[in-house]
Amino acid sequence: MGICETEAIVLRTYKLAEADKIAVFLAQHFGVMRGVAHGARRLKSKFGAALEPYTLVSLSYYEKEGQELVGIRQADILRSYFELSKNAEVIVALEYISGLILEFTPPHEPNEKVFRMFRVCLEAIASSPEDRRQITRYCEVWLLKLSGFLPDLRSCVNCKKSLSENIRTFLGSDGGLRCESCAHKLDMPLGSETTAYLRKTQRQAPGEWARYGNTASEITLTELSHVTHRLITRALERLPRGRASIE
Ligand SMILES: [Zn+2]
Repeated sequence: MGICETEAIVLRTYKLAEADKIAVFLAQHFGVMRGVAHGARRLKSKFGAALEPYTLVSLSYYEKEGQELVGIRQADILRSYFELSKNAEVIVALEYISGLILEFTPPHEPNEKVFRMFRVCLEAIASSPEDRRQITRYCEVWLLKLSGFLPDLRSCVNCKKSLSENIRTFLGSDGGLRCESCAHKLDMPLGSETTAYLRKTQRQAPGEWARYGNTASEITLTELSHVTHRLITRALERLPRGRASIE
């Protein structure tokens, strides 16, 4: 029985028995993991508010051989996002994003990039909750990217021609981007602002990208929403849960 320590973000908690909780974490070095916090539902629990959803904690836990659930020894708050819990629209967005993380990140598979992405996105939402829609889009694009479902944004999947600013671009049902001469009949046409904005996710931080989105046309934002919706549906092989409520 080894003791492990890591930074982690609480994604969900569930009640267990009378006084315990099961917490689902996205851990910096260990990916998604589930643990039991004994006594966490007692009034004077040593965990305090550390297991509130989206709290960044320093976590100490032990693994038991052959068991899926780890035992949580201690969780100390590094950054609380308790202030966000008063904003219902933000909570809906965070529930959707954390649900997507659980869909795209298999348990116990380390993925530090997903951890870092979610940490900066939480911070971006905390500093400008009004940008939650665009920050959610940003998370979608990066989760697709980090799990290998984001198409090449720079060149046509078929002829490899560069999809620069003034080239008409189409999104196919196979999730690939094509130039006009390679596009199929039912491919989704994308405006040049949409593809340029999509490409910016790869070099901008979420807050900066979201602010840029405030100047983009409604058509671009709608197209972008359709693009991530189509790619996520294709990746999951079903509609993403809870997405309609954050449009
Ligand atoms: Zn082409």
